[in-house]
Amino acid sequence: MKTYVAAVWLFLLAAAVASQERASWWLGWMILPIAAAGFLHGPAHSFLLAVFSSLAAAVLLVVRTPPDFAAGVWAPFGLLPFILWNKRLLISAEIESWNVKKTALENQIREIERETKGIQSINKELEDSIHRITELYGLSKQFLATLEEDTAIRITEESIQKWLTDIPKEKQQLIVQKARELLETGPAAVKDLVQFFPEERPGTEAREKWGIMVGQLALGLQRVALYKQIQRLAIHDSLTGLMVRRHFMERLEEEVARSKRLSKELAFLMIDLDEFKKVNDTYGHLVGDVVLREVAERLQKSVREVDLVGRYGGEEFGVVLPETDMPMGAQVAERIRQTVEQTPIPAYDERIRMTVSVGVSVLGTANGEIVKLIEMADEALYKAKNSGRNRVVCS
Ligand code: GH3
Ligand code: MG
Ligand code: MG
Repeated sequence: MKTYVAAVWLFLLAAAVASQERASWWLGWMILPIAAAGFLHGPAHSFLLAVFSSLAAAVLLVVRTPPDFAAGVWAPFGLLPFILWNKRLLISAEIESWNVKKTALENQIREIERETKGIQSINKELEDSIHRITELYGLSKQFLATLEEDTAIRITEESIQKWLTDIPKEKQQLIVQKARELLETGPAAVKDLVQFFPEERPGTEAREKWGIMVGQLALGLQRVALYKQIQRLAIHDSLTGLMVRRHFMERLEEEVARSKRLSKELAFLMIDLDEFKKVNDTYGHLVGDVVLREVAERLQKSVREVDLVGRYGGEEFGVVLPETDMPMGAQVAERIRQTVEQTPIPAYDERIRMTVSVGVSVLGTANGEIVKLIEMADEALYKAKNSGRNRVVCS
């Protein structure tokens, strides 16, 4: 093909040189092989032909007599196809680069779409988690607001019922019933409720949520039970299980106030173990402790439910008998004294004979004053000790 193009070009050149008057006309046609060379063989060939054509036109312009100016005018046009061709190349290169950019953008858009979908699903999960956390937070808040066992149990039952709204009624009742049974076993047992996950509920998420909620319930109930235990420990003596002195005094104040309000008598007993030091010295403290515990138990058993028994000091006990006058108080004191004296106390391998001395006072004689009431019982106790021990003295 190159040969044909060159042949045409050479023919036109020869015609231009040989031509007397129409050199420029022949030169003008040379644009065609230049353009053809450009299209067929690339801009380099086209450029070469254009340069040669321009040179030929320039030579003809100089050697012609008279000069053929038209031939000179064609010279720059010889470069035109090359310029056009070049322009076309530039444009296609630009189109190509735009295509590359377009593909890159399309890829980016696809990537963004993928990411958006991912973010949407994360958002959904987050929303669910927030919802779940809010629910559980509400549950914790309810639990934190109470230290009462009854309220904690009510919260537990309500939250189970609330959580089970979309499962059959019978199944709901069954699970709540199971929760009640477990609660009676102890707060830690509530955790076993996890096994009673209703199978009607689809997905692992619901199962997980059930687990978390049951965990929360167990924690809340354990907290309330722990508080109850701490409260019990704070007001009860660890050795005897009787009220500690501080709590005993508080309760005494309440009872005195009530007695005054209702204009009722109240008796107070101060009880002290006789020569208890000897027990410790002879058998050791462990045996002494057993004796103390046993005496405390006998004291508690010798009085009514409404009476208060407290560990007043080391081996000293206080007893409050509401609505009890002196004769009645003295009778109770005597019963206590006998109960301790009658049966020796078994402690390890020993059987300890123990007696107590009791001082009795009543609110009426103490002018309704607690300090006086205790003082009078103390004095009576002192008298009982001094007059031989193992006896009751009334103030
Ligand atoms: P009295 O008849 O005059 O009351 O003589 P006592 O020996 O009982 O009286 P004293 O006050 O001399 O001794 C009381 C003893 O009680 C001293 C103390 O070691 C003992 N005691 C106090 N608390 C405990 C306790 O928790 N466990 C034991 N094992 N002994 C205790
Ligand atoms: Mg004593
Ligand atoms: Mg004492």
